Amino acid sequence: MTKKRLLIFLGFAFPGVLDVAMGALVVLVMGELFGYAVRPPHLLLGGPLGVLPDFDLLYLYLYAHKRGRSFTSHRTLLTHRPLVMLPLFSALGFVGGGVFWAVTAPACLAWHYLHDTESKWIPFGSGTVEWLWPLVKARGTTVTPPKEPPNALQWLRRVWLTPTTRSLGELLAATYFLLVIGDSLGWTTLALPLLAVCWVVVIVTWREAEKCTWE
Ligand SMILES: [Zn+2]
Repeated sequence: MTKKRLLIFLGFAFPGVLDVAMGALVVLVMGELFGYAVRPPHLLLGGPLGVLPDFDLLYLYLYAHKRGRSFTSHRTLLTHRPLVMLPLFSALGFVGGGVFWAVTAPACLAWHYLHDTESKWIPFGSGTVEWLWPLVKARGTTVTPPKEPPNALQWLRRVWLTPTTRSLGELLAATYFLLVIGDSLGWTTLALPLLAVCWVVVIVTWREAEKCTWE
Protein backbone atom coordinates (compact mmCIF):
# COMPACT_ATOMS: atom_id res chain seq x y z
CA MET A 1 0.00 0.00 0.00
CA THR A 2 1.44 3.35 -0.99
CA LYS A 3 1.73 6.15 1.54
CA LYS A 4 -0.99 8.13 -0.23
CA ARG A 5 -3.40 5.19 -0.12
CA LEU A 6 -2.66 4.67 3.57
CA LEU A 7 -3.35 8.34 4.29
CA ILE A 8 -6.65 8.14 2.37
CA PHE A 9 -7.59 4.97 4.24
CA LEU A 10 -6.86 6.64 7.60
CA GLY A 11 -8.68 9.79 6.48
CA PHE A 12 -11.78 7.71 5.73
CA ALA A 13 -11.45 5.92 9.07
CA PHE A 14 -11.33 9.12 11.16
CA PRO A 15 -14.98 10.16 10.61
CA GLY A 16 -16.05 6.69 11.76
CA VAL A 17 -14.17 6.82 15.06
CA LEU A 18 -16.83 8.86 16.88
CA ASP A 19 -19.57 6.62 15.43
CA VAL A 20 -17.85 3.53 16.83
CA ALA A 21 -17.27 5.16 20.24
CA MET A 22 -20.87 6.40 20.38
CA GLY A 23 -22.29 3.04 19.30
CA ALA A 24 -20.52 1.42 22.25
CA LEU A 25 -21.55 4.28 24.56
CA VAL A 26 -25.21 3.89 23.53
CA VAL A 27 -25.03 0.21 24.58
CA LEU A 28 -23.45 1.21 27.90
CA VAL A 29 -26.10 3.88 28.62
CA MET A 30 -28.97 1.61 27.54
CA GLY A 31 -27.57 -1.09 29.84
CA GLU A 32 -27.77 1.37 32.75
CA LEU A 33 -31.32 2.40 31.79
CA PHE A 34 -32.61 -1.16 31.32
CA GLY A 35 -30.62 -2.71 34.17
CA TYR A 36 -29.00 -4.98 31.56
CA ALA A 37 -25.59 -6.45 32.49
CA VAL A 38 -23.47 -5.05 29.64
CA ARG A 39 -20.32 -7.06 28.97
CA PRO A 40 -17.39 -6.34 26.61
CA PRO A 41 -18.88 -8.37 23.67
CA HIS A 42 -22.02 -6.20 23.85
CA LEU A 43 -19.88 -3.06 23.56
CA LEU A 44 -17.99 -4.67 20.67
CA LEU A 45 -21.35 -5.11 18.94
CA GLY A 46 -22.43 -1.52 19.63
CA GLY A 47 -19.32 -0.01 18.04
CA PRO A 48 -19.88 -1.52 14.57
CA LEU A 49 -23.63 -0.78 14.82
CA GLY A 50 -22.77 2.91 15.24
CA VAL A 51 -20.85 2.94 11.98
CA LEU A 52 -22.82 0.26 10.11
CA PRO A 53 -24.69 2.57 7.67
CA ASP A 54 -21.32 3.70 6.26
CA PHE A 55 -20.54 0.15 5.17
CA ASP A 56 -22.34 1.27 2.01
CA LEU A 57 -19.00 2.92 1.14
CA LEU A 58 -17.54 -0.57 0.75
CA TYR A 59 -20.28 -1.44 -1.73
CA LEU A 60 -19.74 1.86 -3.51
CA TYR A 61 -15.99 1.62 -3.89
CA LEU A 62 -15.46 -2.12 -4.15
CA TYR A 63 -18.43 -2.93 -6.37
CA ALA A 64 -20.48 -0.09 -7.82
CA HIS A 65 -17.68 2.08 -9.17
CA LYS A 66 -15.93 -0.89 -10.70
CA ARG A 67 -19.10 -1.58 -12.68
CA GLY A 68 -19.60 2.00 -13.73
CA ARG A 69 -22.48 2.63 -11.33
CA SER A 70 -22.20 5.92 -9.55
CA PHE A 71 -24.11 7.88 -6.97
CA THR A 72 -24.07 11.52 -5.99
CA SER A 73 -23.59 10.41 -2.39
CA HIS A 74 -23.29 7.11 -0.58
CA ARG A 75 -26.06 8.44 1.68
CA THR A 76 -28.58 7.80 -1.09
CA LEU A 77 -28.21 4.04 -0.57
CA LEU A 78 -30.63 1.98 1.49
CA THR A 79 -28.31 1.77 4.53
CA HIS A 80 -28.89 5.53 5.05
CA ARG A 81 -32.70 5.23 5.03
CA PRO A 82 -33.78 5.34 8.72
CA LEU A 83 -37.40 4.30 8.08
CA VAL A 84 -36.15 1.07 6.54
CA MET A 85 -33.12 0.39 8.73
CA LEU A 86 -34.47 1.25 12.21
CA PRO A 87 -37.46 -1.17 12.13
CA LEU A 88 -35.32 -3.81 10.40
CA PHE A 89 -32.63 -3.67 13.09
CA SER A 90 -35.23 -3.50 15.84
CA ALA A 91 -36.67 -6.76 14.51
CA LEU A 92 -33.22 -8.34 14.11
CA GLY A 93 -32.27 -7.14 17.61
CA PHE A 94 -35.43 -8.65 19.06
CA VAL A 95 -34.84 -12.00 17.39
CA GLY A 96 -31.16 -12.03 18.39
CA GLY A 97 -31.35 -10.58 21.90
CA GLY A 98 -34.89 -9.76 23.05
CA VAL A 99 -36.34 -6.40 24.08
CA PHE A 100 -33.01 -4.84 25.11
CA TRP A 101 -31.49 -5.26 21.64
CA ALA A 102 -34.79 -4.44 19.92
CA VAL A 103 -34.34 -0.95 21.39
CA THR A 104 -30.54 -0.69 21.58
CA ALA A 105 -29.60 -1.81 18.04
CA PRO A 106 -31.77 0.86 16.35
CA ALA A 107 -30.61 3.41 18.96
CA CYS A 108 -26.99 2.85 17.81
CA LEU A 109 -28.09 3.38 14.19
CA ALA A 110 -30.19 6.42 15.16
CA TRP A 111 -27.05 8.05 16.57
CA HIS A 112 -25.38 7.56 13.17
CA TYR A 113 -28.27 9.17 11.28
CA LEU A 114 -28.30 12.14 13.68
CA HIS A 115 -24.54 12.52 13.18
CA ASP A 116 -25.14 12.51 9.40
CA THR A 117 -27.88 15.17 9.59
CA GLU A 118 -27.03 18.84 9.34
CA SER A 119 -29.52 20.91 11.31
CA LYS A 120 -29.54 23.86 13.66
CA TRP A 121 -30.93 21.43 16.26
CA ILE A 122 -27.99 19.01 15.88
CA PRO A 123 -24.70 20.87 16.46
CA PHE A 124 -22.58 17.78 15.71
CA GLY A 125 -24.39 16.78 12.50
CA SER A 126 -23.21 17.24 8.94
CA GLY A 127 -24.76 16.26 5.61
CA THR A 128 -28.22 15.04 4.70
CA VAL A 129 -30.27 11.99 5.63
CA GLU A 130 -33.70 11.40 4.11
CA TRP A 131 -35.41 10.56 7.40
CA LEU A 132 -38.91 10.10 5.97
CA TRP A 133 -38.11 8.21 2.76
CA PRO A 134 -40.10 6.40 1.28
CA LEU A 135 -43.06 8.34 2.79
CA VAL A 136 -41.54 11.58 1.51
CA LYS A 137 -39.80 11.67 -1.86
CA ALA A 138 -36.03 11.90 -1.43
CA ARG A 139 -34.18 14.89 -2.82
CA GLY A 140 -30.95 14.31 -4.74
CA THR A 141 -31.21 10.59 -5.31
CA THR A 142 -30.56 10.84 -9.05
CA VAL A 143 -27.79 8.64 -10.32
CA THR A 144 -25.25 10.88 -11.99
CA PRO A 145 -21.68 10.63 -13.30
CA PRO A 146 -19.07 9.67 -10.70
CA LYS A 147 -18.70 12.63 -8.42
CA GLU A 148 -17.93 11.05 -5.12
CA PRO A 149 -14.30 9.92 -5.40
CA PRO A 150 -12.70 13.27 -6.39
CA ASN A 151 -15.02 15.21 -4.09
CA ALA A 152 -14.40 12.77 -1.29
CA LEU A 153 -10.63 13.20 -1.53
CA GLN A 154 -10.85 17.00 -1.42
CA TRP A 155 -13.25 16.74 1.51
CA LEU A 156 -10.90 14.34 3.29
CA ARG A 157 -7.92 16.64 2.82
CA ARG A 158 -9.85 19.74 3.83
CA VAL A 159 -11.72 18.33 6.84
CA TRP A 160 -10.10 15.14 8.12
CA LEU A 161 -6.46 14.95 7.01
CA THR A 162 -5.69 18.18 8.85
CA PRO A 163 -6.62 19.49 12.30
CA THR A 164 -10.00 21.26 11.97
CA THR A 165 -12.82 21.97 14.41
CA ARG A 166 -14.57 18.84 13.14
CA SER A 167 -11.61 16.46 13.04
CA LEU A 168 -10.14 17.59 16.36
CA GLY A 169 -13.55 17.95 18.02
CA GLU A 170 -14.80 14.51 16.97
CA LEU A 171 -11.56 12.67 17.70
CA LEU A 172 -11.29 14.32 21.15
CA ALA A 173 -14.94 13.52 21.90
CA ALA A 174 -14.38 9.91 20.79
CA THR A 175 -11.28 9.69 23.00
CA TYR A 176 -13.27 10.90 26.00
CA PHE A 177 -16.14 8.45 25.37
CA LEU A 178 -13.73 5.55 24.88
CA LEU A 179 -12.08 6.47 28.19
CA VAL A 180 -15.52 6.48 29.86
CA ILE A 181 -16.24 3.04 28.35
CA GLY A 182 -12.79 1.73 29.33
CA ASP A 183 -13.29 3.05 32.86
CA SER A 184 -16.70 1.34 33.13
CA LEU A 185 -14.95 -1.97 32.39
CA GLY A 186 -12.08 -1.22 34.78
CA TRP A 187 -9.68 -1.05 31.83
CA THR A 188 -8.37 2.50 32.29
CA THR A 189 -4.73 1.41 32.52
CA LEU A 190 -5.10 -0.39 29.18
CA ALA A 191 -7.19 2.32 27.49
CA LEU A 192 -4.86 5.23 28.30
CA PRO A 193 -1.71 3.97 26.51
CA LEU A 194 -3.80 2.59 23.60
CA LEU A 195 -5.48 5.94 23.07
CA ALA A 196 -2.11 7.71 23.37
CA VAL A 197 -0.80 5.49 20.53
CA CYS A 198 -3.92 6.33 18.48
CA TRP A 199 -3.21 10.04 18.93
CA VAL A 200 0.38 9.55 17.76
CA VAL A 201 -1.07 7.92 14.61
CA VAL A 202 -3.48 10.85 14.14
CA ILE A 203 -0.74 13.48 14.50
CA VAL A 204 1.67 11.61 12.21
CA THR A 205 -1.15 11.23 9.64
CA TRP A 206 -1.84 14.98 9.69
CA ARG A 207 1.88 15.79 9.33
CA GLU A 208 2.36 13.34 6.45
CA ALA A 209 -0.84 14.54 4.70
CA GLU A 210 0.49 18.08 4.86
CA LYS A 211 3.81 17.02 3.29
CA CYS A 212 2.20 14.75 0.69
CA THR A 213 2.07 15.90 -2.95
CA TRP A 214 -1.50 15.02 -3.85
CA GLU A 215 -1.67 16.10 -7.48
ZN1 LIG B 1 -23.23 7.74 7.36
